[in-house]
Amino acid sequence: MVGITSRPNTQEKLEILSADAQYDLACACSTNKDEHRRRNKDGKWIYPVTLPNGGRSTLFKTLMSNACSNDCRYCPLREQMDIHRCSLMPEETVRVFLDYYKRRKVFGLFLSSGVIGSPDMTMDRLNSVARILRQKHRFKGYIHLKIIPGASNAAIEDALSLASAVSLNIETPGKKNLEKLSKKKRYIEDIIEPIKLISRLTGRGARYERIRQTTQFIVGAAGERDNEIVRYIYGLYERLKMHRVYFSAYQRGLEEQSLSSEQAGLENPTDILMREHRLYQVDFLLRKYGFDESDIIFDESGNLSLTTDPKEMWARKHPEMFPVNVNKASRLLLLKVPGLGPITVRRILEQRKWRRIRKIDDVGKVGVRLEKAQQYLSF
Ligand code: SF4
Repeated sequence: MVGITSRPNTQEKLEILSADAQYDLACACSTNKDEHRRRNKDGKWIYPVTLPNGGRSTLFKTLMSNACSNDCRYCPLREQMDIHRCSLMPEETVRVFLDYYKRRKVFGLFLSSGVIGSPDMTMDRLNSVARILRQKHRFKGYIHLKIIPGASNAAIEDALSLASAVSLNIETPGKKNLEKLSKKKRYIEDIIEPIKLISRLTGRGARYERIRQTTQFIVGAAGERDNEIVRYIYGLYERLKMHRVYFSAYQRGLEEQSLSSEQAGLENPTDILMREHRLYQVDFLLRKYGFDESDIIFDESGNLSLTTDPKEMWARKHPEMFPVNVNKASRLLLLKVPGLGPITVRRILEQRKWRRIRKIDDVGKVGVRLEKAQQYLSF
């Protein structure tokens, strides 16, 4: 860690600002579990990501400023906190990003910021970086811009005209939960309406059709239940055509962490990380496995099981569906079998075309997953 001087240079500012950007996961790139918590040894601003095509690369990720006029209770950057504040200027951000890009250390840029002055002043800074890169340097690569809550429609459209992807964090399921965390952010006006606007402007046939929108929930900060979050996830995918939803376990500050665990009815603060993992599993079931909201099983408190994954919970709740005949079942039914993923199911469907599957070994190399699947299958 560098010693922070009263007027930090660009490198020192990056140390501070990239560390503060780590909890924003809505990069529009899928990441493996916990990958976002690892840092590249080249610097905290270089993030490993998994690309949609399965390839691997790295993203330059930073805040432009960690000064913020908002009061989100879960955030260490909120106005009331006594921390070292600093900002990058647009030209400075461009210069340092291009240096990494030209050396092929990163494939793109993820840019966010605390709220400096007003949402539109902040958007202006973020958009300026993208504009300089696109217009002055003819940069055609990936730029992800954060949309600041409360930004005007004009500022949002400006961002859409420059970015490859945008995200505005929804933070909580519903207005009441957000009100527990912030007196300043307005749920409907500052978050939901802009998300809907972006959805309209980026939907099929729309002006910015190629732009992807993502969002993120902070998990466990407002005492919300998993069933509330899942209801919102489903709506975000079904009605607003969200590209991806991300989850960030609330884990800042022991004092606050124990409060959130208590509110959420969790016994152990580390359970928050398992909640985050379970929500990612549900997200996969909704996006890739043909599950819908009613297929997700919650306990009596409205939370997902911490000990059993959501697919297995569904299987236990529906014994009448099993065993599934591996030679006859539909793709969707095979996807409901614990231990079978989309790749294995595709292999089963291919094999079935030309021969009868007689035992689990015919499906593939028997590891933990296929062993689990075996008890739910008949041949
Ligand atoms: S607006 Fe963003 S940076 Fe500012 S306090 Fe809220 S979460 Fe933190």
